[in-house]
Amino acid sequence: MRVGGPVLTFETDPCVLSKDFQINDIFWTLQGEGVHSGQRALFIRLPFCNYDCPWCDTEYNSFKKLTEPELVHWLKQEPARLAVITGGEPLVHKDLPRLLKLLKEHNFYVTCETNGSAPVPADIDFVTCSPKAFTKGKFEPYYVHPDAYPKTKQWKYVVDDNFDFGLLERHAKDPQDIIHALSPEFGKMKKNTQRILEFIKLNPQWRLSLQTHKWIDIP
Ligand code: SF4
Repeated sequence: MRVGGPVLTFETDPCVLSKDFQINDIFWTLQGEGVHSGQRALFIRLPFCNYDCPWCDTEYNSFKKLTEPELVHWLKQEPARLAVITGGEPLVHKDLPRLLKLLKEHNFYVTCETNGSAPVPADIDFVTCSPKAFTKGKFEPYYVHPDAYPKTKQWKYVVDDNFDFGLLERHAKDPQDIIHALSPEFGKMKKNTQRILEFIKLNPQWRLSLQTHKWIDIP
């Protein structure tokens, strides 16, 4: 027989509640871009970002709290085992280690989309690094953390009006199996796609990456 004070339930134990996950958004959909394009995936968007890109398309400062059982419910909802952790900037979020542990316990292949400004945990299977110019002055434009560079399997640069293709010379000695992708800023698609196509003619190690989910109007 149990002795002592009242038994705290999951709902009332403040210690347990403080372990809630901060989740900006979570949903099942198709990966819309990059090498996993077209695959069914669980998207988990973590809140907050250390950058301030003017064309950012996510409201990354808001979040809802999910308990671990609520999160596990999402993981079990569908049979696909591809997870996409994105943000905001997921690598600087405090909940990332616990989230990775949970995903691995449920046999997910974990992909992550990062701006490349922080170290990459070992539990991430596939890193897409998308360096940005708008680092709030904390780093030089298009900074990549020394730990993130060798762990990146897919590079993705957003080509906006000011993008200087000369920057891409930094990838001249990358291994052959690394994917190099260029994505036009969505709001100025036509002009910047044309610039990418001209570049790829002479630099075929780079490929065009379109945000297909936006074309077919899915999240
Ligand atoms: S790094 Fe990504 S999430 Fe952060 S402001 Fe830029 S586009 Fe938005």
